[in-house]
Amino acid sequence: MKKIAVVGAGISGLSMANYLEKYKIDYHIYERRNKKDLAGHGFLIPKEGMDYLYQIIDPDLLLKNGNFLKKYTQYSHTGKILAEKNLDYVFAISRHSLIDLLAQNISPEKITYEETIIPDEQQSGKLKLSNGTEIDADIAVISDGSRSRIRKHLFENEIMNMVRESEVVNIIQNKEIAHTIENDFMKFHHEDGGLTFGILKLSDDTILWYSQFDNQKYMINECSPENLRKYMLEVFEHWYPLVPQIIEKSDYKNVHLWNVYELEQLNPFYKDNFVFIGDAAHPLIPFTSQGVTSALKDSFSLTKYLVEEDTTQQAFGKYEIERKPEIEVHIQNGRTLLNQFLLPLNQQTENIIPISYK
Ligand SMILES: Cc1cc2nc3c(=O)[nH]c(=O)nc-3n(C[C@H](O)[C@H](O)[C@H](O)COP(=O)(O)OP(=O)(O)OC[C@H]3O[C@@H](n4cnc5c(N)ncnc54)[C@H](O)[C@@H]3O)c2cc1C
Repeated sequence: MKKIAVVGAGISGLSMANYLEKYKIDYHIYERRNKKDLAGHGFLIPKEGMDYLYQIIDPDLLLKNGNFLKKYTQYSHTGKILAEKNLDYVFAISRHSLIDLLAQNISPEKITYEETIIPDEQQSGKLKLSNGTEIDADIAVISDGSRSRIRKHLFENEIMNMVRESEVVNIIQNKEIAHTIENDFMKFHHEDGGLTFGILKLSDDTILWYSQFDNQKYMINECSPENLRKYMLEVFEHWYPLVPQIIEKSDYKNVHLWNVYELEQLNPFYKDNFVFIGDAAHPLIPFTSQGVTSALKDSFSLTKYLVEEDTTQQAFGKYEIERKPEIEVHIQNGRTLLNQFLLPLNQQTENIIPISYK
């Protein structure tokens, strides 16, 4: 079998490694970050994504680290219930926990942390380590995230746009706050649109909260934890009391500001011996909650074709044919949900759930 280099150990790179392990295909992963440095946001994963995760992670371990949400309740910013929906096996887990679970099946000699991979400008189809050493691989699986530098190098005419929605996300471990949360998934919406506050219960003592905001209306200039705390207190001061109470009592060591980017048009999913998976192939708008599931399905599909097909190019071709049409649907759904989000509440379609199914 050919030598495979995987660039990036996020959900897509690590799930690819797990699937390659299943087929006993050799690979090496290179990851820019430090092993312990895991940015703190979390995921909602629909049932379909869980079915892919069960193939590579023990279901009991997953359950120990996250929570199946039972009910989604949508409120106005003053606390009036607008809609309720029972959820069908939607799982909530922190990014940190899911990455840890995916990494535990990878032996340490197969992964190099703190190594930023760059394209070799002199030789097309080759990658280099930061010290200039060429990587010896026949296939490069590129999973370096939505703002992929390698993708930009190969498809230099691509157009990336900042999405008109950003998020402040925080995960807090606090029993007192967790006990005040009655329902496991609550989302408050400002009547004028373009501003929400969501609360997810990850376990008995851990919650994730997030604010989605129209970044043309509500601007943040500086993203230090102190500044994000100040911003959150100001913006949500007059909301239903539970919201400012949580914001006030939260610890801000895990807080993050996410600016979201999307491609005006998708690139091909492969070129020469480089193939893209996850956000590197197709950045998705967070509203659809399909990022993790798509990353898992990409890895599964690519591995399957690498095993079944005679040539790498046939495998890449079949992978793209299988995955791209579904991704286009998620992109359209994401844009529709974004447009809804920006509208005043009375103009939004009733009872929208923040997860899009195909
Ligand atoms: C605010 C927010 C909320 C989200 N909520 C959800 C949700 O609820 N449900 C859901 O399914 N999805 C959600 N997503 C999307 C989800 O995070 C991604 O789709 C998913 O994690 C797939 O990521 P990935 O592995 O492709 O990329 P990433 O997670 O970005 O991983 C890329 C990795 O590559 C590494 N890297 C980058 N460049 C290099 C380089 N040159 N060399 C070596 N390593 C490199 C990075 O350090 C990183 O570890 C959300 C995203 C955001 C921003």
